[in-house]
Amino acid sequence: MGNPELSVIIPVYNEEAGLPALFDRLYPALDALNTGYEIIFIDDGSRDRSAAVLRGQFEQRPDVTRVILLASNAGQHMAIMAGFEHSRGDIIVTLDADLQNPPEEIGKLVEKVREGHDCVGSIRQQRQDSAFRRHASKAMNGLRERITHIKMTDQGCMLRAYSRDIVEAINSCKEVSTFIPALAYSFAQRPAEVEVAHEERHAGESKYSLYALIRLNFDLMTSFSLVPLQFFSMLGISISMLSALFVVFLFIRRLTYGPEAEGVFTLFGIAFFLIGLTLFGVGLLGEYIGRIYQQVRHRPRYRIGAILEKQATEDTKVTEI
Ligand code: UDP
Ligand code: MG
Repeated sequence: MGNPELSVIIPVYNEEAGLPALFDRLYPALDALNTGYEIIFIDDGSRDRSAAVLRGQFEQRPDVTRVILLASNAGQHMAIMAGFEHSRGDIIVTLDADLQNPPEEIGKLVEKVREGHDCVGSIRQQRQDSAFRRHASKAMNGLRERITHIKMTDQGCMLRAYSRDIVEAINSCKEVSTFIPALAYSFAQRPAEVEVAHEERHAGESKYSLYALIRLNFDLMTSFSLVPLQFFSMLGISISMLSALFVVFLFIRRLTYGPEAEGVFTLFGIAFFLIGLTLFGVGLLGEYIGRIYQQVRHRPRYRIGAILEKQATEDTKVTEI
């Protein structure tokens, strides 16, 4: 058995309710492509019955299904990393488990990679998410566009396809906090984008709380840009220069009008504003330093509990690690 042409990587976290519907659409969609494929599900330390459901599916289609069970929750992007490291296909597609990105669209992306594009992104048409999510995404997309060199129309859509070269490059990175579409784009030589349909989450709820979303966006900004830090250096320089002018101004007033003590509240206002800005700057610095700290500890990025896969030579084999 040679390597399949296509690997589909799906991170799964507490998705027991939606998985059967995913299987019902995913397998026929891939069978219809008439090419060799493997589906790698990564259970990201789910606390519901997702792992058992995946085990059941593996028994149904061991020929094309592989399941990696992570020992604990490592996050969507690290789960995908685990999938990348175990993938064998020439074309690697990432897909969410919640059916927001229709599996029927995979063929479109595969075709683009076959045409020679090494990193194929997707743009969600009529995105079916809450208004808050849509607006926040738009704002973050715009910010990323300005402060990094990464050009993507829709950074949040995870239905993407990569060539083996790109995935090998990603595998050689040992980053602990990253954003896969941006990392892939930074290695791409011939990126392309296609439009894909978008649906409402089939079952369950989004696994991203507001806090998790903020963390993810910090991962994106800090991993691919130093502009926030430079912005603060520039701001510091400008404020120092303005204060110097202000001191000269006050000095002249002192000489012309004598001592004055009015405007205390204006002074408070300015002081609070500057204290706020300073705290924000310190916090931002902390975001970078915290990530450096995590990186230098060299802890494993994820721990694999078990891998369910059929060995090339004999029957179904379950590798328990
Ligand atoms: N996911 C994961 N680990 C996590 C959070 C999410 O593997 O810690 C998976 C989740 O099961 C889904 C995908 O990542 O397949 C995207 O998550 P979700 O649909 O909740 O994100 P949203 O669409 O709200 O951005
Ligand atoms: Mg989703």
